[in-house]
Amino acid sequence: MEKIIVFGHKNPDTDSICSSIVMADLQTKVRGQEVIACRLGEINEETQYALNYFKAETPKLIEKVEEGQIVIMVDHNEFSQTVDGIENAKIDTVIDHHRINNFKTAEPLFYYAQPVGCTATLLYELYKLNNVKIEPKIAGLMLSAIISDTLLLKSPTTTEKDKKALAELEKLANVNKETYGLEMLKAGTNLDKYTEKELINLDAKMMESQGAKYMVAQVNTVSIPDVLKRKAQIEEEIKNTINEKELSLFVFAITDIVNSNSEAIVLGDRTDLISKTYEINDNIAVMPGVVSRKKQILPLIEKNM
Ligand code: MG
Ligand code: MG
Ligand code: MG
Repeated sequence: MEKIIVFGHKNPDTDSICSSIVMADLQTKVRGQEVIACRLGEINEETQYALNYFKAETPKLIEKVEEGQIVIMVDHNEFSQTVDGIENAKIDTVIDHHRINNFKTAEPLFYYAQPVGCTATLLYELYKLNNVKIEPKIAGLMLSAIISDTLLLKSPTTTEKDKKALAELEKLANVNKETYGLEMLKAGTNLDKYTEKELINLDAKMMESQGAKYMVAQVNTVSIPDVLKRKAQIEEEIKNTINEKELSLFVFAITDIVNSNSEAIVLGDRTDLISKTYEINDNIAVMPGVVSRKKQILPLIEKNM
């Protein structure tokens, strides 16, 4: 039998990692053949906290896929965010909660998407749909993903389905979502160990729209000024990335997870895509109430394009 692999996006976040492990579990049980969880980058501190807590194995790191490889994509669909070689792979399934862009397949596939706060919320539904029992570890991983993507249900991406899934998973995983969730999110705000280059790539997504390539990166913190102490060096690295990748715009959003605000360092030829909406002073746009790249920052850039 041909082996099947599952992975989330590059610069993986907690949803991409946990949903890969969870989907591998579900598919292994449903298909009766081993499906292998993989990842396209390093594990961040927040995700590591979740993996340690629920004693889950780290997915296997891969950089490219061979021609004809059967793949399942979770938490993304855009080819600019996926594994090298995807054009010649066989995309079997996509489970996602993002816009569909820059995506095509040669053959029919199973594509399941909903505008919910987290991929794991959709996986939770699939367990029910397939009548598969959710083990405590698996519940814990789904719970971690939902807490991460919705910032403990505070992000505007949060839906009733996410709330319902989280409430149920809390019981199955036997943790308190508030105490566990805050500890996990806080683990992800420990940014001191990263170089500036690592910092801007920690949770960065490459987008392509109307011929313009741009990146939007995001970090979580409990103190925006703390991160901005490194502003000069961060800007240096952003400029290098803009040159290397020929980007029109780089947005580095620093999100205060306690007060639900962001400030962004904005650089490139197309800073107008942000400044049409938010004033930029000294390369910084102050964005009150903004915490979601997907629902707040990206639509803004697309609208101003
Ligand atoms: Mg993600
Ligand atoms: Mg997600
Ligand atoms: Mg995210």
